Amino acid sequence: YGDPSQKIDYVFKVVLIGDSAVGKSQILARFARNEFSLDSKATIGVEFQTRTLVIQHKSIKAQIWDTAGQERSNAVYDITKRQTFDHIPRWLEELRSHADKNIVIILIGNKCDLENQRVVPTEDAKEFAQKEGLFFLETSALEATNVENAFLTVLKEIFNIVK
Ligand code: GDP
Ligand code: MG
Repeated sequence: YGDPSQKIDYVFKVVLIGDSAVGKSQILARFARNEFSLDSKATIGVEFQTRTLVIQHKSIKAQIWDTAGQERSNAVYDITKRQTFDHIPRWLEELRSHADKNIVIILIGNKCDLENQRVVPTEDAKEFAQKEGLFFLETSALEATNVENAFLTVLKEIFNIVK
């Protein structure tokens, strides 16, 4: 992953959306820098980070945007907070109204390390994702579970659309 001198074949933009405190910034920190912080500060404005990876011999630069909330392709909720899941349809509407039709969306149920505090059943989210035509994964930014997988799922799908 990521020889910085290599030529870039594609730049893909990925946006993380969802209620505040679901873990968007920490998912980004885990993917871009393999870092995690338990006392992460609220994101001010919009920030992006990049990571370059290789998919089918092409180097893909992922430019991942972390939003403060009001912004408008990863819809994230917190498995321990029902409200953050109930708000997902609104986030999807927001996302779809701004994006072109080639958009790829993955629904992410974050904080799966907090299984004993879970209030959103995996099955509910899976069913919702299926109905909406979204990929779906549960992640833990804390334990680095499925974070890599979530981004790779989206990036590979975008690659297959544009290549
Ligand atoms: P954002 O507002 O969506 O960007 O949320 P943050 O990334 O700032 O995270 C909010 C809080 O949840 C912080 O205290 C994080 O440390 C914590 N957090 C984020 N991801 C996880 C996770 O996977 N597991 C646990 N247990 N806590 C997390
Ligand atoms: Mg944030």
